[in-house]
Amino acid sequence: MFYSKLVTAFIASICLTGAVFAAPVKVVTISDDFTSIAQSIGGKHVVVTSLITGSRNLHSINPKPSMVMMIKNADLLIRLGMSQDKWIDGLIHVAKNPNLFPGKQGYLDASTNIEKLEVPQGNIDGSMGDVHLHGNPHYWLNPKNGLVIAEQIKDQLILIDPDHARDYQANYQNFSLALKAKIKVWKQALKSYQNYNFVTYHKAWSYFFDGFDLRMVGELEPLPGIAPTTKHLVNLSQTLKESNVPTIVMSTIYYPKKISQSFAKKQGAKFVFVSASVGSDGVTSYESLFDYLVGAVTK
Ligand SMILES: [Zn+2]
Repeated sequence: MFYSKLVTAFIASICLTGAVFAAPVKVVTISDDFTSIAQSIGGKHVVVTSLITGSRNLHSINPKPSMVMMIKNADLLIRLGMSQDKWIDGLIHVAKNPNLFPGKQGYLDASTNIEKLEVPQGNIDGSMGDVHLHGNPHYWLNPKNGLVIAEQIKDQLILIDPDHARDYQANYQNFSLALKAKIKVWKQALKSYQNYNFVTYHKAWSYFFDGFDLRMVGELEPLPGIAPTTKHLVNLSQTLKESNVPTIVMSTIYYPKKISQSFAKKQGAKFVFVSASVGSDGVTSYESLFDYLVGAVTK
């Protein structure tokens, strides 16, 4: 009797302190950017997969049945948030994994601790464009936000798998030290571009410009998600002419190339056509994404 009570108490204490992860923690993220960071923090204790791979337009993703299975089997889901990945709500609903509902320990909205840009004040309406209604969601493009994302992932992994807390803590320290050192190098490389005008196709690069003190002058899209109009391009062209400093036109590889390229040509501007994510154009990690982007701007 006493023995069986002991066993019961022992089992109860295991349940109370959380499950012991014999197997690696299965992490599913929205994209390879988050996967790269999660891999750095989780190390050998995690297996990480992405719902989407490479540089994709996150404003228009069609969920697939295979994604439901990924979420069904996951211990941790890392999403972009800011109402930009509502399709993931549908996947969570269908997968019915009890640990991955909002508020549960397997759920992480990575935008939670991010200092968000371009968040509309007051009532939300179409004046912010049709895809940035809750602010600009392209926040992983400032490497400082990579540190914020990493810290949240570290905390969440410790919650799920406390037995390996020390490893997660150490991996986070290493990741953050390495990234901070690289941020200094990238800042230095971009310093001489601080007097340039930067124009983009879509307002996807606000965090990148903010992180490196670069001047964002305008977009070819009159509003996020709205196709360029002749009138808008003429006005933008006039603004650039009046400012009388060199311009760089920057666009993401999933947007139409021709219109940005010809706009750049008309301004006598450099044209930079790049991936905005890990997993495309030879970019293999979050850190190397910025080596690649800084390289493209300064080439
Ligand atoms: Zn956008």
